[in-house]
Amino acid sequence: MGLEERRRRLAEELKRLGFIRSEKVYRAFLRVPRELFVPEEYRDLAYEDRPLPIGHGQTISAPSIVAYMMELLDPEPGMKALEVGAGSGYAAAVLAEIVAPSDAPRSSWGHVYAVERIPELAELARRNLEAAGYADRVTVVVGDGSRGLPEYAPYDRILVSAAAPQVPRPLVEQLAPGGRMVIPVGDYWGQTLTVIVKDATGSVRVARDIEVLFVPLIGEYAWRVPEGYII
Ligand code: SAM
Repeated sequence: MGLEERRRRLAEELKRLGFIRSEKVYRAFLRVPRELFVPEEYRDLAYEDRPLPIGHGQTISAPSIVAYMMELLDPEPGMKALEVGAGSGYAAAVLAEIVAPSDAPRSSWGHVYAVERIPELAELARRNLEAAGYADRVTVVVGDGSRGLPEYAPYDRILVSAAAPQVPRPLVEQLAPGGRMVIPVGDYWGQTLTVIVKDATGSVRVARDIEVLFVPLIGEYAWRVPEGYII
């Protein structure tokens, strides 16, 4: 079976299981070639619903969790979004396919900024996004995303793809009025997917969703790594 057919079957399965609920997320899953975001040796597993190693102790998340987070995030075409934890670049590409759909006029496109703390992974994300045709819709920046990315703030949507001990304050500050953030919050052994909504007046509402397991968000406003340790 060809990769395109496998991609379609996975999207159908995620829909049947309820991870994909909207047409926009479904279409993005049909369009973004996950095989270009997984290491060569795992290409055959690209359309299995599982996380895969991408090097440096990090993973590309399972498609079902990316779909579920995207539905909670509810991005719209034309929006400016931030992803913290770019990793392979896959989730940023899915997000870009929603805020800047391939078949929409470029003048209507939104943009995704993706921060990654490991420079080699940021480079990997850039290469993968280029190969998949998303280089002009996603800007990858190396840095500590627990501080957000103030130079392009505020953001209509913020997706945090690593687990924080609490919601980093700069991310709440960089959320636009009417904005929404999805972030796993908890300890190393388990977290709750948390949705933060900022209303037009700037008031913030917090809702807790399902239990998840993510790699840690390491940074000034997240997990601090003791000096001498390398993660
Ligand atoms: N979204 C990615 C994808 O589609 O491949 C997977 C993300 S992976 C589960 C989490 C990523 O967060 C890792 O690449 C890790 O290096 C990164 N990370 C951890 N702490 C970070 C921080 N403070 N700022 C930016 N990236 C961070």
